[in-house]
Amino acid sequence: MSKLTLATVWLDGCSGCHMSFLDMDERLLELAEAVDVVYSPIVDTKEYPDEVDIALVEGAVASVDDEKKIKKIRAHTRTLVAMGDCAITGNVPSMRNPIGPEAILRRAYIENASCQPQIPTVVVPKLLTMVRPIHEFVKVDVFLPGCPPSADTFYTALTALVTGGPLDISALTRFGA
Ligand code: SF4
Repeated sequence: MSKLTLATVWLDGCSGCHMSFLDMDERLLELAEAVDVVYSPIVDTKEYPDEVDIALVEGAVASVDDEKKIKKIRAHTRTLVAMGDCAITGNVPSMRNPIGPEAILRRAYIENASCQPQIPTVVVPKLLTMVRPIHEFVKVDVFLPGCPPSADTFYTALTALVTGGPLDISALTRFGA
């Protein structure tokens, strides 16, 4: 049987969801027999492939780059998974919404700068006015809740997605395995 392709994507999140994914530990070896990781912060691929079977997306949409990226990912992915509460609700990154991006940038790059205070205009992507969950931009096929989802949740969900079996994570905990 040919392997499925798997991508993991990091938008505006803390990487905790990726850490929890890695917490599957030896079960990653089992997963590796069924999938090839073709794009991820943990591999060196620079461009999102044309066709990906499953994409796990961590983080909310906070910048113009995030928005462009999630739309491209959706166009090239069969099953898109919102991985964790930031992707599903906005969660932690959306705490800046009542404050607005200008005040955040001023605080980070001017008020807290120890030298050369200035708000960057290149390299750092332009922030959107509001941080929003990914389903407000693209269709999401599977929601994996938790901050982060537990390793057991990942294992259960990915096993179901890879085998085509039923997906029921209702009995799993939201925090830790
Ligand atoms: Fe981090 Fe929690 Fe957001 Fe995952 S859901 S990126 S662990 S803050």
